[in-house]
Amino acid sequence: MPTETEIAIIGAGAAGIAAATRLAELGRSCLVLEAGTRPGGRAHTDTASLGTPFDRGASWLHVAEHNPLTPIARRLGFTLYEGERRRRDILLIGDRHATPEEKAAHDAACDAWEEAAEARAAQDGPDIPIADAVPHGGYWDATASHWLGTTICGVEPERNSLRDYIDTGLDGENPQVKEGFGTLVARLAEGLPIHLVTPIHAVRADRHITLEGPRGTIRARGCIVTLSTGALASGALRFSPGLPAEVDTAIAGLPMALLSKIALRGTLGLAPFARLGRRVEGEGDRPMSWVVGPFGRDHAIGFLGGESAWALAREGPAAAEAYARADLARYVGKAEVARAFPHPAIATDWGENPLFLGAYTYARPGAAGARAALAEARPADGRIRFAGEACHTRYAGTVGGAWASGMAAAEALSATLGR
Ligand SMILES: Cc1cc2nc3c(=O)[nH]c(=O)nc-3n(C[C@H](O)[C@H](O)[C@H](O)COP(=O)(O)OP(=O)(O)OC[C@H]3O[C@@H](n4cnc5c(N)ncnc54)[C@H](O)[C@@H]3O)c2cc1C
Repeated sequence: MPTETEIAIIGAGAAGIAAATRLAELGRSCLVLEAGTRPGGRAHTDTASLGTPFDRGASWLHVAEHNPLTPIARRLGFTLYEGERRRRDILLIGDRHATPEEKAAHDAACDAWEEAAEARAAQDGPDIPIADAVPHGGYWDATASHWLGTTICGVEPERNSLRDYIDTGLDGENPQVKEGFGTLVARLAEGLPIHLVTPIHAVRADRHITLEGPRGTIRARGCIVTLSTGALASGALRFSPGLPAEVDTAIAGLPMALLSKIALRGTLGLAPFARLGRRVEGEGDRPMSWVVGPFGRDHAIGFLGGESAWALAREGPAAAEAYARADLARYVGKAEVARAFPHPAIATDWGENPLFLGAYTYARPGAAGARAALAEARPADGRIRFAGEACHTRYAGTVGGAWASGMAAAEALSATLGR
């Protein structure tokens, strides 16, 4: 491995790949140091486990009409597909299917939940948890909160900033990538100077920027750090001198949420992309949401977010599989689940993997400004920059946001360094 470069990038996820791409365009030399065995980070298509592409991390190209990766995906010949917009194909109430009128009432409650959050955020006043702004007590309110809050955001609305939720809301076109979102990101990494299995444990700033890890020491003029805030907060990367207090505060204000996926190989004979969900029945009920047969493939993906996802991540894959099978059994019965899905489940481990320690960031109430603070932080006279999904003030939590943030960090650092 080289021991010197102009700009060192730590992490080869979407942000690191974008930063390296932009630096090459700007005529800068760089090295990307990646701890893991593959590029792409939280965009990872697993083609081995199920026999067809399965995105363990990102799968939707959110806000596709403004997503910087949409034109790139099209140019490279990737297939983007968004089916008909609908919340649920099958909605369960207890052990029966909801009627069309009940499904309409569910959809209306979800719309009302979002409208209430928007209306409250439009008022002046201090930032509050989302839970304080949305309806409670109605027949579908807990279900709407569980789906729009805990599942999609990966964190309970009681702990999530209303201001940040509104500022980073994901509307618009929402296709998936048939070949896999991770396949697309991995393609964008091709040809870049990425060194895999090269963890960096320390960044020292004096006359030079020096990166240290078990594979050696690299000296650079500048550095872009793209670790998740979960990995940063774990202390896996030490900075010397220590980071400015406002950077530590920003990282602490942007903890990791968790969305877990549990995939079962088999088929229920439903139309492709069938969406299944259940009404929350009582205090401790935490339903999964299901996408069955994406692209007509023979697997079902169960989604679980928030505290129950963290608990299952700690318990391990066997507990996750049992949870998923029990949830799906509510729709078709235990025997049918066993018959239709005879293979072991695949459970993601983003929460426990020390390179990520979660799925994507949320902001604590009151910390909505933390994304801008992290993106604009300039430790070591601007020779160290942060990039990644956490740093994007509009498309946080997405691959597109991470990509744009990596591009911006590369440009800012290049300008700081001059020639
Ligand atoms: C289950 C799940 C579902 C998601 N769904 C979507 C979706 O549908 N659409 C969407 O747009 N986004 C989605 N996301 C979020 C999206 O995947 C992320 O926002 C994005 O990929 C983050 O990119 P990044 O470059 O900021 O960080 P990362 O991808 O985390 O990249 C950082 C890299 O740093 C490496 N690293 C960590 N520590 C070190 C170290 N010490 N030294 C060197 N390297 C290190 C990591 O291995 C990683 O490769 C999802 C994420 C998950 C987990």
